Amino acid sequence: MKIILITFCLLAIIGFALSVFLVIWAFAKKITWVKSILFVFLYGVLCIGILLFMIDRRKPDLVKRIPIVRTIKKSESKRNCDCTWSSLALQKDDYPTKHKPTAKRITNGMYIKNEASRVKWIRRRRLVPVDEAEGFGISNLDYSSAHLTPLAKKRLYELGERFRERIQKPNEKKSYFIVSSITRSQVQQTQICDRYPNACTRDHSPHSYGVAFDIYKLTSSDKNCNIGMNALQEVLTQMQREGKILLCPESKCIHVTVCG
Ligand SMILES: [Zn+2]
Repeated sequence: MKIILITFCLLAIIGFALSVFLVIWAFAKKITWVKSILFVFLYGVLCIGILLFMIDRRKPDLVKRIPIVRTIKKSESKRNCDCTWSSLALQKDDYPTKHKPTAKRITNGMYIKNEASRVKWIRRRRLVPVDEAEGFGISNLDYSSAHLTPLAKKRLYELGERFRERIQKPNEKKSYFIVSSITRSQVQQTQICDRYPNACTRDHSPHSYGVAFDIYKLTSSDKNCNIGMNALQEVLTQMQREGKILLCPESKCIHVTVCG
């Protein structure tokens, strides 16, 4: 972009000098006014041509930009793979002794009991909306809402970005993982426990502190999910080692609690 700007400035200076020169010449009657205007016009066309050519040459850069999930057409997604403890080789952080106390500590006990307390924390900006971004999509959230604490949101976005950075193969660059659950109030947590009694924490789930999300699928834009799965596994492990997230298995997904 810088080189285009420099070229534009140079062409503008030359254009200005040319115009002054032609005006002087026209006053001196060494050239007709019509010809002067024609010269300036042709020079303008030439400049636009040069600049458009330079901008066009930048297109490969633009194409390389990694698309966010919203911009990916359904036809470009070729495969859906489950993200579970058996499909990814990850290190488990103990749920009762690590995930739950960390969620409480990191939020100063900001517990989302019901809809009213969720609204309260959103108003106070302790919970912020989360939208699909680079590297991840959000599924239909039946028992949760797309809100997280600012830190947890930052980590989710970071995870998506690092996941995409990790993928080198151009075809695979449109792969993304899907987040299935985000923030649940205790009321929603109870509802989900009534429905799936074997697959949930009844009380004080990290999801009820706004610092947890579940990853349940990976959508690959290539023939299989191998590259995407490896990338996801690597970034999850890296961020876990960096002390940013805690991981543990859930029945059909990977549970992530943000811890720093
Ligand atoms: Zn979970």
